[in-house]
Amino acid sequence: MREIKIKSPAKINLGLKVYRKREDGFHEVETILQMVDLYDTITLRRIEGDIIVVSCNNNSVPEDENNLVYRAAELIQRHIKVDKGLLIKIDKHIPVSAGLGGGSSNAAVTLLGLNRLWDLGLKKDKLIDLAKLLGSDVPFFIFGTRAIGRGRGEELQPLSSGERIPIVLVNPNLSLSTSWVYKNLNLRLTNKENSINLLTPLLERGEIKKIGRYIFNDLESSAIKRFPVIKDIKDKLWSLGAVCSMMSGSGSTVFGIFTDYNIAKEACHKLRIEEWSVFLTETIVDLQEIYPGEILRSMQ
Ligand code: ATP
Repeated sequence: MREIKIKSPAKINLGLKVYRKREDGFHEVETILQMVDLYDTITLRRIEGDIIVVSCNNNSVPEDENNLVYRAAELIQRHIKVDKGLLIKIDKHIPVSAGLGGGSSNAAVTLLGLNRLWDLGLKKDKLIDLAKLLGSDVPFFIFGTRAIGRGRGEELQPLSSGERIPIVLVNPNLSLSTSWVYKNLNLRLTNKENSINLLTPLLERGEIKKIGRYIFNDLESSAIKRFPVIKDIKDKLWSLGAVCSMMSGSGSTVFGIFTDYNIAKEACHKLRIEEWSVFLTETIVDLQEIYPGEILRSMQ
């Protein structure tokens, strides 16, 4: 096999609780991660020599060793002692620095793809261990498709995926750096109750209308202080029929959850009048929807 092309999905956080700052500088979190069907495409191609070349159609994404896909490939080269060359092409559709995990997803997909392209025979648990070395959100994109993340977000517990849920994503074309949002977080003002415990059973039972009452993101208020437009988008989604709207991860993307696909579609039309990037998506319920069968079989 000379080349492999794989879809690389986005995620949203259906709840994000932030606890104390740990000694390693990271905050302890508890979150519900959910894959949605907005994709980048990653193409991995064998090339001569042992170098790694990255190319991306979005010029705000680095093409050097700062790209997470480069680090994923280098990790495999070093860890498994492979000296093969590789071209990684990223076709970006997921907004960058947007709380949608695009870079983490690209890195996870690179690990999965190389396992197949280079015939490494690595099993799922091993790939997840390697993913943890690349970043806290990376393991989730191998684990799928809805899970609770604890620790830095990398200790995963599976949740049943239930029915497909229509989700509208709105990005105001403003990048928020994750470290800025955490630095400006006032832990004294965060949600006292741990609503993850309340949200999980509602999601598992598919009681979407009720989740609006419990959904939360401890990072949202500091992000809104910096960019009030986040609040405007939340209100707009709500007025267009979303059962709830919330910022994803460290922002700046806001998602709206809908119970009806056509209402979500109509909301997208109306939101596109503004200068925002708007995406009509659905939750992903099975990894087989995204990753080719040969990729999934090769890690079993
Ligand atoms: P995080 O919470 O990890 O910051 P995010 O979803 O908010 O994730 P990403 O789109 O993953 O944001 O990008 C975060 C940063 O990572 C950006 O500054 C970007 O330059 C860098 N980056 C490195 N590799 C990639 C990649 N493959 N795709 C997108 N960004 C990347």
